[in-house]
Parts: sequence; structure tokens; C-alpha cells
Amino acid sequence: MRVLVVNCGSSSIKYQFLDMDTEQVLCKGLAERIGIPGSKIVHKKEGQKAVVEKPMKDHEEALKYVLELVADEKVGGVKDLKEINAVGHRVVHGGEKFSGSVLIDEEVMSAIEEYSYLAPLHNPPNIMGIKAMMKLLPGVPNVAVFDTAFHSKMPAKAYLYAIPYEYYRKYKIRRYGFHGTSHRYVSKRTAEILGIDYNKSKIITVHLGNGSSIAAIMNGRSIDTSMGFTPLEGLVMGTRSGDLDPSIVTFLMEREGMTSEEVYTILNKKSGVLGLTDGFSSDMRDIEERALNGDPVCSLALDIYEYRIAKYIGSYVAAMNGVDAIAFTAGVGENSPVTRKAVCEHYLGYLGICIDDGKNNIKGEERVISTPDSKVKVLLVPTNEELMIARDTKEIIEKGIKQLEY
Ligand code: ADP
Repeated sequence: MRVLVVNCGSSSIKYQFLDMDTEQVLCKGLAERIGIPGSKIVHKKEGQKAVVEKPMKDHEEALKYVLELVADEKVGGVKDLKEINAVGHRVVHGGEKFSGSVLIDEEVMSAIEEYSYLAPLHNPPNIMGIKAMMKLLPGVPNVAVFDTAFHSKMPAKAYLYAIPYEYYRKYKIRRYGFHGTSHRYVSKRTAEILGIDYNKSKIITVHLGNGSSIAAIMNGRSIDTSMGFTPLEGLVMGTRSGDLDPSIVTFLMEREGMTSEEVYTILNKKSGVLGLTDGFSSDMRDIEERALNGDPVCSLALDIYEYRIAKYIGSYVAAMNGVDAIAFTAGVGENSPVTRKAVCEHYLGYLGICIDDGKNNIKGEERVISTPDSKVKVLLVPTNEELMIARDTKEIIEKGIKQLEY
């Protein structure tokens, strides 16, 4: 079976085309600047690269060119578009309705549309991508894999905010969590690598990218995660503040005469390590480099970043009454030995964690990085959301089911 995985953002589309009999990526690429001047697609197949630079007014037009590349004789993965068996879509918000991946029909489409009020920046482009694929590949099934679904079975004690209950009733204000596909993939891989029973394990997955989140995964289920109603809650991120006292919002609005939109922009786009370094950088590579050279501002930002991660890990050990393994993933988690070591040894010594410096000194490779006698295993597991989406898509189509329960 051949599956095209599509991840539509507001002006970009990431895609991968996979042969699911071998789980091999046949080709992949990124379309950028859709709907704005300078649209282009960078497409790759085994060391070969093709660049398409022409105007793409919307997602449908961009996907039309993507399909041409996928069926291209030289850089494509199939001879004929008829050989594409299914399309898997990353969809950000599945609200309370979706606790697993689903085959998309009209009812699912309207539910995704309905949840746009919870993810106004993300669900609308996801919908555009689904509609475009339905038009461009008629008769080919489409599957939605939600960022929120893996967390949808968190207990109410983890997802309810202590605000008047009527706001939950009226608007479904609660914690949803995101990065679910990554947390699911990484936790499953962790259990496989360690040879432990996923359904009887306590795993903490630490996804550190531009956006970051942590999840407590007990017996194969996410029981808590650091992102909440929106991706703003939780860890200190590249440009997002993470946890803060909500009074800061009203204080800024009053003192600075800011609108809600302005405060939203500050907390989402100008905070995190970018804010802490007074606008220097949101990229942890820059922060680490300056910190290593003794820059006090970047050292403090790094310290705050790592301290927050460690506090969350500590709280999830409490939430699960123990932990078997901690797995680091995504841009920073996969590529920063400094952060992994600082979080684990600097702050988590009480857990009996011991990092093997030699094993930790690696980037982007799946492996255990703790010493054999470390009480808690620590791993580096590169995430692979596309593969997870393709696997779910394949399973739904092959089994002829409507919804997959995790
Ligand atoms: P996204 O959330 O956009 O998918 P990624 O998972 O690609 O983000 O992570 C991007 C971040 O990873 C960058 O902003 C950068 O801070 C971090 N990163 C990448 N390589 C390194 C590295 N070698 N050392 C430290 N941080 C890194």
C-alpha cells in the first residue's frame, strides 16, 4: 500500500510519500509561501532534489504540483497517481470527539470544521488540504490523524481547569494537549527498544522543538501533558512563554493599553527563550553557543528552559507514582546533548538517573543514553509523526474500519 502523508499549515505543506509494505519513504518535500509571492516546492528523493518555483494561489494549486512531483518519472514515487492508495492528514484539533484516527467522511469534516473555533490557525488549513485532496484524487480515501487524540483519554483531574464550570460547559475550555502523534510514536518505540510491555509501563516523553511539550504515558495511555487549551501552556519554548500567572495578561492590558490580540502575540511569538534573551534568538543552538561562551543572559535562559523541563518530569513521576523511562525527541531533544544531560543530572539526580556521556554525545540517533545501572532508563528517540500517520492510515484502510482506537 502506498500512502501520501500531508501536513498543511497556513502557508506551507509538508508531505511524505511512503510505501507501507516496506515503510520506506519514496519521496518527500515542503511547499512554502503558498498564497504569497515566492511560492516554491522543494522535493527530495534519495539524494535527488527538484525545485518548483511558480505562483501557488492556494493549497489546492500547491497540492496539484505536489502530485505532479509524486508521479514524476525521475523524482517521483509512482508512475501513475492511481497507485496512491490513501492520504493521511495531520489534523491539529479533534476536540473531545476524536480519541483516535478516523476515515474522513462528511460527518468528520463538519466536526473538524466545528473545532476550528478551538484551533483557528490550524484546523482551517488542514481542512483546505483535505478538500483539495478529495478533489484532486477522487475516490482515494482520506484519513485524519489528530494531534489531540492521544491525550483525549486523560482523566478529568488532569484536563479540567479550576475556573467556573460553565466555561467548560459552554466553550469546552479544558486541557487538550498537542504533539500527540509524536508522544505516541516515541513512547511506543521506547517500550520496544527497552523490551518492556507498553501496556504496563510508565514513560515520560519530552518533545523539545520550536514548540515543546511533555507527556506522562502510563500503561500505553497519555494521562497528562504540558500543553493545554492551546499550545501556549507548559514548557518554556522558542517564542512561547509556557506556564505563567494569568494575571500578567490583565496587568499588561491595563498598564500597556494592549488589546487581547497584542497580548496573545507577545505570549506566543515574543516570549520563551526569545523573550528571555531580550529578542536575541528563539533557536536553542544560538542560546547554547552563547551560554557555553559564558554569556550570562543566554546561560540564564538555558537554565530557566531546563529547570522547567525538570519540574515537569518531577511532577509526572508523581502523577504516575514512578517512571521506567524518559525519552527525548524533536529538534532540541534529538540534537542537544547539553540539554539532555543538564535536565537529567543537574535536576533529576534523586531518581537515580545516570547519563553515559559517551552515549549521550550523539545527534538524531535512536539509543539508550543512560548507564546500565541507571534506575530510570533515558533514551533519545527521533520522532516520526509521518510514519505514525501512514501506519494509522494503512490500518484503517486495510481493516475497513472507521476509527482506530489507540
Ligand atoms: P518544530 O517544532 O518547528 O517541528 P523542530 O523539532 O524542528 O521544530 O525543532 C527546531 C528546534 O530544534 C530549533 O529551533 C533549534 O532550537 C533546535 N535544534 C536543532 N538542532 C539543534 C542542535 N544541534 N542543538 C540544539 N538545538 C537544536
